[in-house]
Amino acid sequence: AFDVLVVGGGPAGAAAAIYAARKGIRTGVAAERFGGQVLDTMAIENFISVPYTEGPKLAAALEQHVKEYEADIMNLQRAVKLIPAADQGGEHEVEFESGARLKSKTLILSTGARWREMNVPGEAEYRNKGVAYCPHCDGPLFKGKRVAVIGGGNSGVEAAIDLAGIVGHVTLIEFMDEMRADAVLQKKLKSLPNVEIILGARTTEVNGDGTRVNGLTYEERASGEIKRLELEGIFVQIGLVPNTEWLTDSPIELSQRGEIVIDERGMTSVPGIFAAGDVTTVPYKQIVIAMGEGSKAALGAFDYLIRH
Ligand code: FAD
Repeated sequence: AFDVLVVGGGPAGAAAAIYAARKGIRTGVAAERFGGQVLDTMAIENFISVPYTEGPKLAAALEQHVKEYEADIMNLQRAVKLIPAADQGGEHEVEFESGARLKSKTLILSTGARWREMNVPGEAEYRNKGVAYCPHCDGPLFKGKRVAVIGGGNSGVEAAIDLAGIVGHVTLIEFMDEMRADAVLQKKLKSLPNVEIILGARTTEVNGDGTRVNGLTYEERASGEIKRLELEGIFVQIGLVPNTEWLTDSPIELSQRGEIVIDERGMTSVPGIFAAGDVTTVPYKQIVIAMGEGSKAALGAFDYLIRH
């Protein structure tokens, strides 16, 4: 059995494993895919103190750093069930798809999140070649260029406002006949000179020249007419889904969006079970933030262990 079992091996899980292992306690980290979302990322320019790196390189560095310590790394292990301890101070259990079961006095859940995709032709082909999901990460790559933001919820409208200050022109595309974002955000968006809003439009295809995005095709839903925009970038903002499906039967409190609710030390509603990173209610999903949160949750777990 472990003192700390980390479930998830992205930036949050790696940081949690390192902080826990450095306390000299029995630490394990089990992940479906060590590296997490970072593996799907190309250029990373906001990992503080490292002006430029690439996802696969950072993912390898994460694993390398964890391996400096005596932490058990169990890769390709997908957690399917959580069985909390029967009494406080007891052992929690995690069941994996492989049938394996692991016990630990504390858990740190860091299973991350995934961007909802449009699932239209060209989207996957041009991912990281004009199709982007994170304005904080990739906005500056489109300086002076034309981009579209797909989605008129809060994240879409925030992204459009943010991007309007960097890029040349922003077209916001919303499927419904009105945007769902807060009124104050909509007002701000409408006040910007380089933003166009298209409502009632269904994106049907991401167009490109074989190497990069050069346009977007959409259907005007009312008329059925097909139109095309010439542009260099597309930011898809139709939702970030936390990987908590495996926790819905557990007593762990989730927010309305399915994110794990945590306190200021990273503890969930179940004593001894902590969570960190994109899977939680913590706002702003970023690598440096996930690492900070993972470190915090590990210190929280250590604090819990010395008291129980
Ligand atoms: P994740 O990275 O999502 O890791 C989750 C881990 O949990 C993975 O190991 C996964 O395999 C595992 N897992 C999931 N479900 C289970 C399960 N049931 N059982 C076991 N393991 C499971 N951020 C930046 O700061 N800068 C950038 O430039 C940047 N660019 C990005 C570009 C793209 C295309 C994407 C998708 C994201 C980008 N981000 C960027 C966001 C950043 O990658 C995330 O904020 C960060 O990876 C979150 O870390 P995490 O550890 O919380 O979760």
